[in-house]
Amino acid sequence: MKNYTMQVTKPMSDWKTQTVEVPERDISFPGKYFLKDRLDLTSCEVSLNALLPGQGTPFCHAHKQNEEIYIFLQGNGEFQVDDEIIPVSSGSVIKVNPSGERAWRNTGGEELQFIVIQAKADSLEGYTLEDGVIVERDPFGTPE
Ligand code: ZN
Repeated sequence: MKNYTMQVTKPMSDWKTQTVEVPERDISFPGKYFLKDRLDLTSCEVSLNALLPGQGTPFCHAHKQNEEIYIFLQGNGEFQVDDEIIPVSSGSVIKVNPSGERAWRNTGGEELQFIVIQAKADSLEGYTLEDGVIVERDPFGTPE
C-alpha cells in the first residue's frame, strides 16, 4: 500500500476557474477546490480558494464542531468574524472557532488566494515532536 495520496491541482493562477456546486442547497462557490475527497483525507478538510476582485461570500457561516484556519497567500481582502472586520493580505493567518460567524471578500485589485484547513476543534493530540519519529531510512536513498 502506498503511504501517500497526491492530487496535482491546477496552478494557483487557475484556482479561480474551480467551482464547488451544492445543488441540494442551490449554492455554488466560485474559486473553491476541496481536497478531502481527492486526497482521501481523514483528519481535516482543505480547500484552495481564489476570489476575483469584488467577489466575496454571499452569507456568513459557522460550524458545528470544526475550527477553520485561513492562510492568505495573495491579494487583499476583509475577513469578518462576528462583529469584527479584519483586513487580510499575503501572510495573514486566521483561526476561527466553530461558533465564529464568518465571511470574507476581496477588496483589492488582484485575486485573493487562500487555503482553508478545517478540523475538529480540540481533536489534536500529539503533534510535531510528540508525534513525529525519526526513522532509519536515508533521505533520497543511500549516499554513494
Ligand atoms: Zn467553513
